[in-house]
Amino acid sequence: MVDQVPGLLSLEISIDERSGATGVKHTRRVVVDQAPALFLLPCGDSRCADGEHDLTTPVMRALRAHETSFQGSDSCMGSLGPAACGRVVHFDAVAQYRP
Ligand SMILES: [Zn+2]
Repeated sequence: MVDQVPGLLSLEISIDERSGATGVKHTRRVVVDQAPALFLLPCGDSRCADGEHDLTTPVMRALRAHETSFQGSDSCMGSLGPAACGRVVHFDAVAQYRP
């Protein structure tokens, strides 16, 4: 990741995942020295087929712009039987850069 975002020191992403009334929140700290520039989350619904959240594009765009805090969301494109999953994750990220 550091080769794609020169000067990036740390990145912390809080994931807020919701399905109807229930919400799960978890925070992941990204080790920037080792992490690939890829932010994929599996869908939190175990019945979901082909569900995944790809946060790579919005996250990398913000990092390249050296934003220190940014948010975004992604809805699942997978399916629950005949219905669309539509589960939404919100993320909240805080990044630090070398001055
Ligand atoms: Zn899903």
